[in-house]
Amino acid sequence: MTPDTRPDLLDLAPDEALTTLREWFDARGEPRYRAAQVFGRLWQRPVRGFDDITELPKPLREALAEAFRISSLELATRQQSRDGTEKFLFRLHDGQFIETVAIPDGDRMTFCISSQAGCALQCAFCATGAMGFQRNLTPAEIAGQVRELRLLDPPILPTNIVFMGMGEPLMNWKAVSPSLSLLNDARALGIGARHITISTVGVLPGIEALAARPEQFRLAISIHAPSDALRRTLMPVNVKYPLVDVIAAARTFDRRVTFEYVMLGGVNDQPAHAAELAQLARDCRAFVNLIPLHPGGAMGFTPTPTEDITRFAAAVRARGVEVAVRRSRGLDIAAACGQLRTERLGRRAPVAAETDRDVHVA
Ligand code: SAH
Repeated sequence: MTPDTRPDLLDLAPDEALTTLREWFDARGEPRYRAAQVFGRLWQRPVRGFDDITELPKPLREALAEAFRISSLELATRQQSRDGTEKFLFRLHDGQFIETVAIPDGDRMTFCISSQAGCALQCAFCATGAMGFQRNLTPAEIAGQVRELRLLDPPILPTNIVFMGMGEPLMNWKAVSPSLSLLNDARALGIGARHITISTVGVLPGIEALAARPEQFRLAISIHAPSDALRRTLMPVNVKYPLVDVIAAARTFDRRVTFEYVMLGGVNDQPAHAAELAQLARDCRAFVNLIPLHPGGAMGFTPTPTEDITRFAAAVRARGVEVAVRRSRGLDIAAACGQLRTERLGRRAPVAAETDRDVHVA
């Protein structure tokens, strides 16, 4: 089989896609408004293929299909939780699997999306890390997760996006940046920038790149430990990007950042940790999200009991820092990114079979 060399229109940021399409229509002597017409059918009122763009004459649809591709992600598994949370496992063209979670909450619908297949960072409590890094996702695969849920019957429409699925978004900035444009641009998915959150372990060049974007995308930083000594043991990336530098980057970020802090029983949940964490948060006026460890968390960790989380939150709050405790969602379907993929690949190792990342309401 000869490889498909047609460019995938879903890989292009809005301006790029429109330019490409305009040039193509120009070359054929077709009116330019056709470009916006086609682009509108990629994200806004999505279709699976050119043939479904019935407002175009058939010969034009056929010619488009010869020149370009509209890729899709194959839905491998769909699971619904009693609390309404839904989890989707997609199979990519090369056999990789990624996960997307849709979390309803009142009038909000948050999609938790993946930016990489697997992850290189090896955070001690995270099962995606235990899978290892497979590869970066393309824009068509990142923004495409949202497109696929919009294509369902009935469609699921997001109000919020969090990059808290598999992978480290700021280690795939090349694809995440155009994906942000596709998510946010009114001509594409049209989700407000303040409703899109990038979650990172603190990849400094990525934070700079995000800060340089004019839109008000939100930044969440996975802190998880208030000192370098402890953070190093939980997050190997702390050697490359130490806490002081991450905090400094958060301080210079021109929008308010969120700290994510997963509560690990007996590890990072003591009163002294609360005091240190509060100090860091005050340093950069961060908002703190305490995350209960997913019950199926990585081997060797136990969740902090709920009443201790409440006490920890109060201690941080007493120091003048805004704190929220996240609710875990979709527990009955193990709506923890990593598990479905793990089952699918038949991995039976305890660390991988236990799930990692739970679903958060950002
Ligand atoms: N790589 C990015 C984004 C993906 S992880 C990051 O680390 O921020 C999204 C969040 O889920 C991170 O804060 C991560 O630490 C957290 N997480 C991972 N495993 C978890 C678990 N077992 N329980 C609760 N949260 C977990």
